Amino acid sequence: MYDLIIIGAGPAGLTAAIYAARAGKKVLVCEKEGIGGQIATSPKVENYPGFRCISGTELADNLYEQAVSFGVEIEFETVEKIKDNGDTKTVITEYGEKECKKVIIATGVRHKKLGLPNEEDYEGRGVSYCAICDGAFFKNCPVAVVGGGNAALRSVQFLAGICEKVYLIHRRNEFRGDLMTVNEVRALPNVDFILDSVVSSLHGSGDLSSITVNSVKTGESVNLDVSALFVCVGQIPSNDAFKDTVLLDENGYILAGEDCKTNVPGIFAAGDCRTKSIRQLTTAAADGAVSALA
Ligand SMILES: Cc1cc2nc3c(=O)[nH]c(=O)nc-3n(C[C@H](O)[C@H](O)[C@H](O)COP(=O)(O)OP(=O)(O)OC[C@H]3O[C@@H](n4cnc5c(N)ncnc54)[C@H](O)[C@@H]3O)c2cc1C
Repeated sequence: MYDLIIIGAGPAGLTAAIYAARAGKKVLVCEKEGIGGQIATSPKVENYPGFRCISGTELADNLYEQAVSFGVEIEFETVEKIKDNGDTKTVITEYGEKECKKVIIATGVRHKKLGLPNEEDYEGRGVSYCAICDGAFFKNCPVAVVGGGNAALRSVQFLAGICEKVYLIHRRNEFRGDLMTVNEVRALPNVDFILDSVVSSLHGSGDLSSITVNSVKTGESVNLDVSALFVCVGQIPSNDAFKDTVLLDENGYILAGEDCKTNVPGIFAAGDCRTKSIRQLTTAAADGAVSALA
């Protein structure tokens, strides 16, 4: 019987594990892929307080060592379901069942990709899925953003204040985002709209240096010299396994506020997997602390 099982060894899950273990609890973390979650794929992090610049893998290693040093157990297995028995919970993984008193779901999100053949080669070399995270690396450079929702529009607003020029590429000529935000973006002097268009290929030896954009109406293509492409076409929360246990919103995020409490007593949601407006390392770590102490 564990006091606490945490699902996901990203920054939220490992922060929760550190807090709970330091409070004398018997803690297990179940992780399906690798330690560190999304940040493990980032070459450089410059906005996590206390570290002027650190690689994602180093940050993940530090989190792992810190958690294990306090006696946290970590198992590499995928959690497939949680059964609520009232005072106890059963966590069902691909290898069997584990009993505990409380559960923290910290399963994060995955970013949707464009699906271009060499997209992964340029990840961390110009292709990014997070303008707040990586925009500052492209100060005074021309960059492009793909997407038509609020996330894409807010990324453009953010990047327009840092970058020389921002191309906003969208496959339709209307945006899914708020009209007010669209109008604010239209008023920015260094933003060019390229509508009814899709990114068809990425180029550059080593780092990204240009992209080809095709009109879906005329078939014409144009090459844009850009140092970065920010892909803002959506995120997929990793919450499918829990949809019969806790309430999710219409986009698949677990309904939980700043207290990280779900609709089920004893089951908490921390980090990117829950409903919130800012998904960053600091907010994930904050949720880890809040949920563990709760
Ligand atoms: C390339 C990149 C760069 C970024 N750079 C920055 C940055 O510079 N600064 C910043 O603040 N933020 C950055 N972010 C965002 C930041 O990484 C996330 O906000 C943060 O990792 C969220 O932490 P989390 O623990 O909630 O979720 P995640 O990091 O997504 O971790 C969730 C973990 O749960 C595991 N999991 C999922 N489902 C299951 C299951 N069923 N069973 C077991 N395990 C499961 C996953 O494998 C994963 O390891 C970046 C993101 C990316 C992708």
